[in-house]
Amino acid sequence: MSRRGRRSRGERRGVAEAGAFELPAGFRERMAGLLGPETEVFLEALSAPPSGLRVNTLKVPPERLRAMAPFELVPLEYPPEGFLVAEGERPGSHPYHAAGLYYLQDPGAMVVGAVPDLPEGARVLDLAAAPGGKSTHLAARLAGRGVLVANDVVPARARELAGNLERCGVRNAVVTAERPERLRERWGGWFDVVLVDAPCSGESMFHKSAAARMEWSPEAVLGCARRQQELLRDAVELVRPGGVLVYSTCTFAPEENEGVLAALLERHPELEPIDPPAIPGAEPARPDWVTPPAPPSVMRAIRLWPHRVPGAGHFVAILRRSDGPLADDAGQGHDAASPAAHAAPPAARPTSATLKAMANFFEEVLPGLDHSRLDVAQIGDQLQALPPVCPALARLRVLRTGWWLGTVRNGRFEPAHSLAMAIDPALAAQRIDLASDDPVGEVERYLRGETLRSAGEDGWVLVSVDGFSLGWGKRTGGVVKNHYPKRLRRR
Ligand code: SAM
Repeated sequence: MSRRGRRSRGERRGVAEAGAFELPAGFRERMAGLLGPETEVFLEALSAPPSGLRVNTLKVPPERLRAMAPFELVPLEYPPEGFLVAEGERPGSHPYHAAGLYYLQDPGAMVVGAVPDLPEGARVLDLAAAPGGKSTHLAARLAGRGVLVANDVVPARARELAGNLERCGVRNAVVTAERPERLRERWGGWFDVVLVDAPCSGESMFHKSAAARMEWSPEAVLGCARRQQELLRDAVELVRPGGVLVYSTCTFAPEENEGVLAALLERHPELEPIDPPAIPGAEPARPDWVTPPAPPSVMRAIRLWPHRVPGAGHFVAILRRSDGPLADDAGQGHDAASPAAHAAPPAARPTSATLKAMANFFEEVLPGLDHSRLDVAQIGDQLQALPPVCPALARLRVLRTGWWLGTVRNGRFEPAHSLAMAIDPALAAQRIDLASDDPVGEVERYLRGETLRSAGEDGWVLVSVDGFSLGWGKRTGGVVKNHYPKRLRRR
């Protein structure tokens, strides 16, 4: 909720400085009215929800990570790649996090990325995606097939999103920073699955966000509901007939959940709520909590209450679009299945000299990788491998067009961090594999951007931890210059 201007800076600072965790009175009253005798247990669970970790199955199977991790992980009943993190553990500072082996995520938020069926080679759009919890999850489920378009209207947040997709080794994502209406105009009816994880009043975030508590008011809730309806107006039209729209929030306000769904269903009779998979502890949504009551089909949406399901609380609805002939093609009349559809500006085909420079790099440095299958486009000085299917991107604000392989400068190819993060280090000719429990602390030194020493041939080396890529280094005479990106270095 971006309503900071409503209260004075002093007022906000007051709450933050005091470290108080005072819930807005109107919120407490509303919840007491809705939950009756359950209110106390709800508020207690809301004050300290458990922390979650979702294994990035693009890189490691869940049970292997659990066996390797030096911190305790307790499996969730749903989804299978989700775990609870024991209190006091800090998996975010372990090198496995930098290696993209997991994403720290609220257990309820994991449900959102897990519920939609993803047909083989699906075209998936995450319309409000930053920082990327659900996008990285959806990408892991796509396993490199199809395409994930991850969008966030705020450019700085879209950059953070691109960074998380990079860390998680995602090859087939397009990242955009666009207004949804622009995407709707371009790509209407193109996606199998569209997720709207909407900006909301964030009531389930009250335990960790003083801003969410300070900015909350009944009027702000209604403002959020209006904004959600606007987002959905565009989102519906991006779904292909027969495709699926997923709507989720991390708030409890009926106006932003059942109320928004009721309005959506009234405008779009072609949308039909469908049942999610069985999720232990999930409760049906409450059509009777809005006025006038929402249609009974809204009960197919689910509420994940913090006192019933691990996590801070979520609302999730899955809706199938049932109208019209099935779209078999991208918006704009391109044949999206054919590589020709990719050639829309600003992506251009690299020159043969550029391709040769890239091929030389791959043959020397990554001989194990079959680069001949990559569909490479040049965007400025960047070479990016396009996803298996790709919507037309001309005149959109695009941050990533698939897998960023590297940059060509003065005829020389320099590998991108994204290239390292999405490969098995065993493909590299030269590699330095560091141990996460090494008492000398070489991994930490690498992640801080320091130079390493190692004997071996001069040239590019892939640096890894316990067999998982961390980034690049370049060796000259036994000294390895650190190419871990400055933006990621630890202090
Ligand atoms: N799905 C994300 C995740 O799992 O990490 C969290 C999304 S957060 C609840 C909502 C996001 O919506 C914010 O990053 C915000 O910048 C973005 N947003 C707000 N208004 C938007 C709009 N009109 N179009 C696209 N994104 C928007």
